[in-house]
Amino acid sequence: MTLIRILLIALVAWLILRMIKTRLDRHTEHKKTQTDQIGAMVKCHHCGLHIPKQEAIESANHYYCSQEHRQLEQQDD
Ligand SMILES: [Zn+2]
Repeated sequence: MTLIRILLIALVAWLILRMIKTRLDRHTEHKKTQTDQIGAMVKCHHCGLHIPKQEAIESANHYYCSQEHRQLEQQDD
């Protein structure tokens, strides 16, 4: 009877671990989807460097990788 009890405990423990793992996987997948949405890339109008849209500096319908490049490009105009 002891062996069956051990097997039952092991089974329950395995089921709990599997549940936790499934939840963690779902959480990771959700995170990945969010990153994909944020991951839009834009090109710096001055040097052509590709940067995430979130980090880009937008000015006069153009994107720039830094304030410096934004200023340089505006000085040329
Ligand atoms: Zn640039």
